[in-house]
Amino acid sequence: MTVDCAVIQRETPAPERPHRRTEGPVRTCVGCRKRELAVDLLRVVAVSNGNGHCALTVDQAGNLPGRGAWLHPDDRCLQAAFRRRAFGRALRITGSPDTSAVVEYVRAQTGAD
Ligand SMILES: [Zn+2]
Repeated sequence: MTVDCAVIQRETPAPERPHRRTEGPVRTCVGCRKRELAVDLLRVVAVSNGNGHCALTVDQAGNLPGRGAWLHPDDRCLQAAFRRRAFGRALRITGSPDTSAVVEYVRAQTGAD
């Protein structure tokens, strides 16, 4: 005997628990220090610009080598990270890196001016 056709149609779907996506690695935003899925954060890496200085860039493809700093695509987190010099610490760089690429990226994402 098969029960394939005996599925009772429920009028009310099973209540969905308010769950977050939990799959995937979790990282900490260097701006607000909240833990977040890595897929929801930007990975920022430092690249040498050839003048003995570093520039921050967003690792959009997720394949740049080296240390990464994780950041919400949010200007508030970006500014908080700057204030706390979090990129320097996270990326083990000294001095003031060129941050324009990351600033532009975040502002493009958020639509901020
Ligand atoms: Zn954040």
